[in-house]
Parts: sequence; C-alpha cells; structure tokens
Amino acid sequence: MGCLFCKIAEKTLPAKIEYEDDRFSVFHDIHPKAPLHLLIIPKKHIQSVDHVAIEDKELMGELILVAQKVARAKNLRGYKLQINVGREAGQIVDHLHLHLLARPPDGQADI
Ligand code: 5GP
Ligand code: ZN
Repeated sequence: MGCLFCKIAEKTLPAKIEYEDDRFSVFHDIHPKAPLHLLIIPKKHIQSVDHVAIEDKELMGELILVAQKVARAKNLRGYKLQINVGREAGQIVDHLHLHLLARPPDGQADI
C-alpha cells in the first residue's frame, strides 16, 4: 500500500501541485474546506507531529516558511494554519501535513 502523501511527493500519485522544492511539496486538498485549501508536507516521511525528532527541528521551521512563501506568492491577506495530530484530533493521513486555509484576497473571485 504505502503512504499516500509520499506517493504524491514522488509523483506516483497525481495531485494539483502548487509549489515544490527539494524538501517540501505543496498541493491542493482533494476535499477543500475553504476557497483555498493547501496541504504543505515535508518530502521526508514523518508520521505526525508526535513523531518529530530533534533532528527535524530545522525542517519544521522551514515548513512554516514554505507556508509563508506560498501565502505571499498568492497575495493572501490572512490565512489559517492547522496540523491535526492523531486520530482523536482528526488526522486521517499518517504523513505530517500543514493545512493552509484562506479566502481570496479582496476583489479576487478565486485563488
Ligand atoms: P488530516 O485529516 O489527516 O489532517 O488531513 C488529511 C487531508 O488530506 C484531508 O483534508 C483530505 O481531504 C486530504 N486528502 C486525503 N486524500 C487525499 C488525496 O489523495 N489527495 C489530496 N490532494 N488530498 C487528500
Ligand atoms: Zn509518507
């Protein structure tokens, strides 16, 4: 079976990719809960925030900077960031991901 988001990062499973670099992939959520709903993932497989190790601390900082970069590129005036950790909190995909949710900037029909 393998990990769904690893497959998206490796491009063996299709997704609408918004941004990527050597360490991160950003793609549109298949069931968007806001006009813009992106998922930002490290390409490294980490199951959840509860599985982040000390050697991942730089990667976790960069995760936030990738969110900032994508938000700035889209001229977002504001956005929500969310990470679900564990089933109890609604995590259904066991590959750490940051949700970015936003509305279109003023005067823009979509994003
Ligand atoms: P979680 O509930 O684990 O925090 O969030 C997982 C998210 O992944 C959900 O919002 C869900 O809609 C999204 N998702 C699940 N499967 C796929 C998929 O195959 N492709 C994409 N692009 N998103 C997915
Ligand atoms: Zn994975």
